[in-house]
Amino acid sequence: MRELAATGFMSNRGRQNVASFLTKNLGINWQMGAEWFESQLIDCDACSNWGNWNYAAGVGNDARGFRYFNILKQSSMYDPTGDYIRHWLPELMQIPEDKVHQPEKLTMEEQKRYQCQLGIDYPRPVVDFFKSIKSNERLYNSAFTR
Ligand SMILES: Cc1cc2nc3c(=O)[nH]c(=O)nc-3n(C[C@H](O)[C@H](O)[C@H](O)COP(=O)(O)OP(=O)(O)OC[C@H]3O[C@@H](n4cnc5c(N)ncnc54)[C@H](O)[C@@H]3O)c2cc1C
Repeated sequence: MRELAATGFMSNRGRQNVASFLTKNLGINWQMGAEWFESQLIDCDACSNWGNWNYAAGVGNDARGFRYFNILKQSSMYDPTGDYIRHWLPELMQIPEDKVHQPEKLTMEEQKRYQCQLGIDYPRPVVDFFKSIKSNERLYNSAFTR
């Protein structure tokens, strides 16, 4: 999101992860994501943006049920050394690659060593990843069984 705010661009993979997190983890209306992207993207195109957002939310005319991105897995696969993360989140600069994808797991001692105090330099997680997936999946499925 910092990359988008600074440059007006984000890779397709980034956009898909963002759209999945907003809708499948945070349970926020996808239209708010589409509006935010529209206000930021230099390549904003109404059809691509709104079409991709409703597809990602699983409510478009090509809906394929409740699918979500495992963001930790994506991050480890596509940014294995953490260079992309550290570039946009310099507060994580000193964290080694085996820990940079999950700063929330740093011990107090590691937080001191890497100069990254959770809740001060870097926020604690806003949701539990899999619990939030499960509860939004229930909500999503209940909308289709009414
Ligand atoms: C939530 C979301 C919002 C998006 N909003 C926009 C937008 O406003 N404007 C926009 O041009 N693209 C949008 N896209 C599509 C895509 O992210 C961008 O076109 C892509 O990031 C361009 O980067 P690239 O040059 O690496 O494309 P590559 O992945 O190399 O693809 C080559 C070309 O194919 C087209 N393309 C690739 N993926 C998509 C896709 N999913 N949907 C439509 N066209 C695609 C693009 O024109 C791109 O230039 C969005 C995707 C998502 C998931």
